Amino acid sequence: MRALLSTALLAGLLAPAAHGQLRPVRPGDQALLKRAPTYEEQVAAQVAARLTRLRPQVRCAPLGILGTHPAGYFLMVPQMCADLAAFHKSPASFDPRACRDGTCLTTDAAVAMALATVSHESYHLLGYTNEAQVECYGMQSIWFVASKLGASLVEAQAIGKFYATQIYPLRQTQTPAYWTSECHDGGRYDLRPQSHSWPS
Ligand SMILES: [Zn+2]
Repeated sequence: MRALLSTALLAGLLAPAAHGQLRPVRPGDQALLKRAPTYEEQVAAQVAARLTRLRPQVRCAPLGILGTHPAGYFLMVPQMCADLAAFHKSPASFDPRACRDGTCLTTDAAVAMALATVSHESYHLLGYTNEAQVECYGMQSIWFVASKLGASLVEAQAIGKFYATQIYPLRQTQTPAYWTSECHDGGRYDLRPQSHSWPS
């Protein structure tokens, strides 16, 4: 599975990508990028670096925008950074397979969103700009982000499945630009067509 993912990402590297060069999208981002990264930012940046084989920077900022064009960095809203840090500290506490009530459903969904944001933004770093394609590729790499943050492989895959079944379908009506009917096992955006395990 890892080998197949790397092959797909290698193809992405051929697209015009940032290759570690920081290009502030907004004037205010320059100051953000100048300061030293916090622990949470380093955690997110390290995972994005492993996923992209680039050297991206991540900053947690209240005006976090989800960039469409590769700029060598991405921003995440502080709550998402906090969710990532909480997951990194105790991955097993956010296992959707153990969730039996609405409270954990909310926190598990928030964590899954934070993990998905790291992988989504990583595909932008690789040069992809079509949001539906980026979202679909990102969903297929949630397991990678989760496992790099300490989750077991089975839990990491369960989080990917949770996102695919509970969160992704909502995009069709809530954020249609981020949804495509081609995002399924065997669909146009399936990164691992030989494998029938989905989305991991
Ligand atoms: Zn995006």
